[in-house]
Amino acid sequence: MAGGSGTRSPAPVLWFTGLSGSGKSTIATRVHQELVRRGVEVEYIDGDALREVFPATGFTRAERDEHLRRTGYMASRLAAHGVTVVASFVSPYRESRDFIRSLCENFGEIYVATPLEECERRDVKGLYARVRRGEIRNFTGIDDPYEPPDRPELTLDTRVLSVDQCVAQVLAFVEDQL
Ligand code: ADP
Repeated sequence: MAGGSGTRSPAPVLWFTGLSGSGKSTIATRVHQELVRRGVEVEYIDGDALREVFPATGFTRAERDEHLRRTGYMASRLAAHGVTVVASFVSPYRESRDFIRSLCENFGEIYVATPLEECERRDVKGLYARVRRGEIRNFTGIDDPYEPPDRPELTLDTRVLSVDQCVAQVLAFVEDQL
């Protein structure tokens, strides 16, 4: 346990990773809402939202890594002060995710393992159609890599689990760490 008497113990960082359209933000948002309802001090951070604030963030490997290092560092500092963090980022590179893990005392890597075919079939944001029309390059899963986690704390396959079931699994995982 970090810190001594008078300081708060580190809170969990729940890091959702997976392809675009896999279900990360749908599940993460619901988990966040439920934690708020329970009175947990919690912050939700989302890759798309952060990119709107920092529009110059690109999609090369180096730019993605930098984006995640900054975000991961901030997440780890919030958690160190007792704020639970729910984070939803494609975060395609194992090395970047492992770096964030190394910063966080209590890191839960949640792999939303929806296969590409299903993400593309859903195409919630119409992005896959744009990729197929050649309007977007370096898209994770199509012409940019996604490296699945080796040992995620939790794997969710949204083809067989409902949103409610996914949310319940995450809450069960985090319950005794709050
Ligand atoms: P991401 O944040 O990974 O890009 P989204 O959460 O925006 O993905 O989109 C996932 C889509 O898949 C949503 O339209 C959601 O309603 C749908 N979906 C279907 N089943 C599930 C499930 N079990 N868990 C999460 N999302 C699901």
